[in-house]
Amino acid sequence: MIVAKFGGTSVGDAAAIARTAAIIRGRLDRQPMVVVSALAGTTNRLIEIAEHSAKGELIVALAILEELRTRHFDTVTELLGGHETHDEVAAEVGAMFDELAHLAEALSVLGHLTNRSHDAVAAMGERLSAPIVTAAMQRAGLPAVFVDARLVMLTSEDYGRAEPLADDIAAACRAQLAPLVREGKVPVLGGYIGATRGGVTTTLGRGGSDFSASLFGAAMEAEAIEIWTDVDGMLTADPRVVPDARLIGHIRFDEAAELANFGAKVLHPSTITPAVKRGIPVFVFNSRRPEGTGTRITFDAPRTPVRAIAGKTRTVVVKIRSPRMLATPGALRKIFEVFEKNRTSVDVVATSEVSVSVTLDDDQHIDAVVGQLAAFGDVSVERHRGIVALVGAGLGESTETMARALTALGDLRLHMVSLSATGINLTLIVDGDTVHEAMRRLHAAFFNGAA
Ligand code: ADP
Ligand code: ASP
Ligand code: MG
Repeated sequence: MIVAKFGGTSVGDAAAIARTAAIIRGRLDRQPMVVVSALAGTTNRLIEIAEHSAKGELIVALAILEELRTRHFDTVTELLGGHETHDEVAAEVGAMFDELAHLAEALSVLGHLTNRSHDAVAAMGERLSAPIVTAAMQRAGLPAVFVDARLVMLTSEDYGRAEPLADDIAAACRAQLAPLVREGKVPVLGGYIGATRGGVTTTLGRGGSDFSASLFGAAMEAEAIEIWTDVDGMLTADPRVVPDARLIGHIRFDEAAELANFGAKVLHPSTITPAVKRGIPVFVFNSRRPEGTGTRITFDAPRTPVRAIAGKTRTVVVKIRSPRMLATPGALRKIFEVFEKNRTSVDVVATSEVSVSVTLDDDQHIDAVVGQLAAFGDVSVERHRGIVALVGAGLGESTETMARALTALGDLRLHMVSLSATGINLTLIVDGDTVHEAMRRLHAAFFNGAA
């Protein structure tokens, strides 16, 4: 069997959903299971609803809600108008919008948004899209069956970024999805959302539908995980930043994971882990051009010094300086414990005899982190930095790559440089507003001209 995940733009409107149904029709012999995102842009709008409501701006929140309601109803009418399932699906969609309105009202009374209620609202997008896509597929004659993802994607209670419970998910998939697939049915589930063992709705973090697909793929021991999106596959850089980025036909798991971690949004950073554990190949395809060859992600793509370039613009650098610090046994461990305790993950690390610099993606707990680090030395925080990463499994063996990269950056200011121990990525910390220019310069240096 295979798992096919369709991102927001691949289910963004009735025409996109119809294309998705056609793609699945062409794969029925491979026993597909379908994971869908919310209709493009919906999750952002839902989060706005939650935030406005909690600020007491209920009128604004309800106006956004009505806009979403109309869009979903229009999609249902376009897909199912005149069909026997129309009224039932429309009633279901209506009930979910009523529930959303109640949630918005409750938040405006409370005047406070917790991660838990944030998830209850944010999960609505996939709760809505999955039954709509299921009905559209049924109308197209496919044996699609809606399954509420919250019954199988069991997670921790870390609302906002819940951790999947792999054993529980595997057991639930065996019990609820495997029999459907064996009968020749096509289960359709929402990505991104899950529930605690107690049944409270959670989410896996933004962009998490890719992660859902790979978790389901691992649990179902799928032969392939397909990520259907709005670009031809993984490219040598984000095409929104580097317009002449080109398609990567075959890439290694470790390279894809690094790229995702350093900003290649085409894959959620956690997507690769479950697939690697089971050695399941991951493919990335364009749902607008299903005839394309896409990208294949496996263990065994040939090594190359630079496979692709990624970047992210909102990085915070924390520096801890202390003349005696590194002479003290266990100093680094104690420093990293501070990040761990405050649930803040560190991306890039550089040390000297007297200082440690680290980069963070997420500055949610920065005040607590800085306060606790002060015990070790002088702490400074540099905001508005960015990271550019050059990724390639053969990078560590290439003597000229580093020189070429630094030359290509030219006059752009460099704040930190780090070559990973595995030699798979070279990360460069630059000013946040030069990340895109740095990506373009590096791309031109490594990819222009080469076929
Ligand atoms: P979906 O809604 O299908 O999950 P996303 O917007 O999350 O789609 O991811 C697809 C987008 O990722 C592309 O439109 C592209 O702009 C961006 N992207 C960033 N880096 C890359 C890359 N290296 N290769 C391909 N796409 C990339
Ligand atoms: N709809 C969710 C988001 O926008 C999950 C996803 O699309 O992967 O973050
Ligand atoms: Mg995505």
